[in-house]
Amino acid sequence: MSSFELRSGSRTDVGRAREQNEDAMFAGLHTFAVADGLGGHRAGEVASNLALESIQALDTLSPTRAAAGLGDAVRKANRAVHDQSQRDPELKGMGTTMTAVVVESGDAHLAHVGDSRAYLLRGGRIQRISRDHTLVARMVDEGKISAEEAANHPQRSILTRALGAERDVDVDAAQIPLASGDRLVLCSDGLTGVLDDDEICAFAGDGDDLDEICSRMVNEANTRGGPDNITVVVVEVTGSGGTSAPRSRQHARRNPRLPVRALIWMALIAAAAFGAIFVARTVTNNNFYVGVTGDEVAIFRGFPPEEIPRIPLRLVEKTGIKVSELPDWLGVKVRKGAPYKSLSEARAYVDDLRQSKPKPSASPTGEEP
Ligand code: CA
Repeated sequence: MSSFELRSGSRTDVGRAREQNEDAMFAGLHTFAVADGLGGHRAGEVASNLALESIQALDTLSPTRAAAGLGDAVRKANRAVHDQSQRDPELKGMGTTMTAVVVESGDAHLAHVGDSRAYLLRGGRIQRISRDHTLVARMVDEGKISAEEAANHPQRSILTRALGAERDVDVDAAQIPLASGDRLVLCSDGLTGVLDDDEICAFAGDGDDLDEICSRMVNEANTRGGPDNITVVVVEVTGSGGTSAPRSRQHARRNPRLPVRALIWMALIAAAAFGAIFVARTVTNNNFYVGVTGDEVAIFRGFPPEEIPRIPLRLVEKTGIKVSELPDWLGVKVRKGAPYKSLSEARAYVDDLRQSKPKPSASPTGEEP
């Protein structure tokens, strides 16, 4: 065992645009987590707090047992949120992100689902140690859009994974060796939506009072419009560790481009905050697509499998339309799956498909579309 010690600071804030804070956080002895709830009314708040319960329980265990139990704790949290959302109609469709870290023997053990983030600060540099489970992150991975385009994309808040959306969830896990002086930052997208990684690096490395650092980041996010709930946890590793990475930098300077960026962000946020972000932040429950089961056209909940293969398909309704009766070009399109924001839009598309079907009395050779 190395003689690592940990200290942490944290802050959560409702922001400037939301009425409730659906984020939740935990900063314990060796367990740290941020959860960002999703769902109408108070459902998001219920989801994030419920999910945190099983993570908090880890802090009562030894670091070794907590690290070993982290993945299971997140899966248990998923089940708890999912079951509760099935039981209570008012909570139907709720979900939450979860980014949790247990520090044990000089390693950070990470478990992650959703678009909250974990960063490692070392030697004045910042590195993301979690991967966003969002549609736009996927598009970046596939080379369809650039990281810059992703940052401003109107659909950047659409998640491909969240706790509570399904009965089982795929949890990202990572183990990162730590060195004395390292800092970890866990935060919700209310922070990363308005501060870029360099800015988070500058803030998180600037000073020794970790609570104050968190407050400064929250204040900056609010200065830039505070379009969403904002949550930050900063953890610092102190004492002599086993690894010999360079000592980190406490007083990193602020990014000199900050004022210009701030102006650009303020303009973007003004345009986006009250429309895109608010509306786009949904779990897959609020997405539908028209696809095919067997030879029959059907409406499913979720995203077309080609787009998001991880999300299990959920059949909502069959339509009685046979794909083989559709014009070829339309059949190809339907087999690919066409996404819709609501069930009524999906049904409207199905109605269009019905019109495209050759009438039973029509020429047996079929007609041109
Ligand atoms: Ca959020």
